[in-house]
Amino acid sequence: MNATRSVDLEAPPHLEAPPHLEAPPHRPALPINRDRLWDSLMELATIGATPKGGVCRLALTDLDKIARDRFRLWSETAGCRITIDRMGNIFARRRGQDDSLPPVMTGSHLDTQPTGGRFDGNYGVMAGLEVIRALNDLKVETLRPIEVVVWTNEEGSRFAPAMIASGVFAGVFSLDYGLNAKDGDGKTLGAELQRIGYAGETEVGGRPVAAFFEAHIEQGPILEAEGNTIGVVQGVQGIRWYDVTVTGQDAHAGPTPMPGRRDALLGAAQMITAVNRIGLDHPPHGRATVGKLNVAPNSTNVIPGKVEFMVDLRHPDAAVLARMHETLALEFARIARDSGLTLDLKQIWYSPPVTFDPACVAAVKAAAERFDLSSQVMVSGAGHDAVYLSRVAPTAMVFVPCKDGISHNEIEDAEPDDLAAGCAVLYAAMLERANAPGPAG
Ligand SMILES: [Zn+2]
Repeated sequence: MNATRSVDLEAPPHLEAPPHLEAPPHRPALPINRDRLWDSLMELATIGATPKGGVCRLALTDLDKIARDRFRLWSETAGCRITIDRMGNIFARRRGQDDSLPPVMTGSHLDTQPTGGRFDGNYGVMAGLEVIRALNDLKVETLRPIEVVVWTNEEGSRFAPAMIASGVFAGVFSLDYGLNAKDGDGKTLGAELQRIGYAGETEVGGRPVAAFFEAHIEQGPILEAEGNTIGVVQGVQGIRWYDVTVTGQDAHAGPTPMPGRRDALLGAAQMITAVNRIGLDHPPHGRATVGKLNVAPNSTNVIPGKVEFMVDLRHPDAAVLARMHETLALEFARIARDSGLTLDLKQIWYSPPVTFDPACVAAVKAAAERFDLSSQVMVSGAGHDAVYLSRVAPTAMVFVPCKDGISHNEIEDAEPDDLAAGCAVLYAAMLERANAPGPAG
């Protein structure tokens, strides 16, 4: 904290508090405008609106361009300077008192799933814009500049992989790799950026960022179930994926006696039960799922000779995730041996757990306390742009509840009050980091 600067969250004494600053009787005033945030989100949701109340706005389509243009217009109206990098990431920058210092950054994505909702990604961008609008309203200057970023193609539903542009920014992927990603029709990300006029000239990444915050709907049911408004996200789960093939012997369901059968599906069923047990044995964060299964020959009167399935294991602690992995390998081998089956177990993907920056996490927690909002520390079960940013900048996330924990669905929903609360937490956490003393300023 820097006590010498006028960075109070309260309105300066010479200003009348606007109506939106009047707090409900039981809670401190929020520095942001709840209705303006909601209205901007709803206006954005008209771009690509679906009949069921969701949004279909795939990356770098004409609709994505319209949403990007809208963000630019709003940001410029709020006094920001826009730059666009070669991956089409858009940065809206509000000057700092020392504009040579690295910025405190926030943002998310405007692309959606084909049957996406109104809040995933869009909330993080609009919350960032509302932070800037609120800083303007309150005439607050910050030591460091503030930037709101729109990351290109977060969802990965048009161009794989997901989070490709924040990945290039963080040096995880090369620019070449990013620009050459192809959609289902063979069109490249780079060509589509050109087509919609968002192939910028700024180099991607390679510049210091003082802190990165991402506000996002939780996309899970925990906050709602616990009755809390703010998720203080301290990290992201590690993930291991496996391809499994179990081979036995096809045989006729009638003449083949029960003893001595080599039923691959029966073995796979025991393995799936073991997977579920591994998840249950590592509460509260362990996750263990089989979501895909192929049975051969898949015929009513044939004992299955071959089963292929995939396993998804998750835990925020790399050591625990490694133990879950060992248990899985041992249990699968034992089941295969006892059932006379051949096992082929391959780990095909490992995404290590992410631990966010303690100072940024503390800033989020303190902000929730400041506004008297109920909060809980949690880990994210899903990937976000913040995961890649955490490799190059001190990072944290703010979660708000979404209805029934449902996301990547047109019925995705969230409460205006919760969205405003998360935005206020983002505001205070960013302000704290934007004025904090430190090696970066
Ligand atoms: Zn998202």
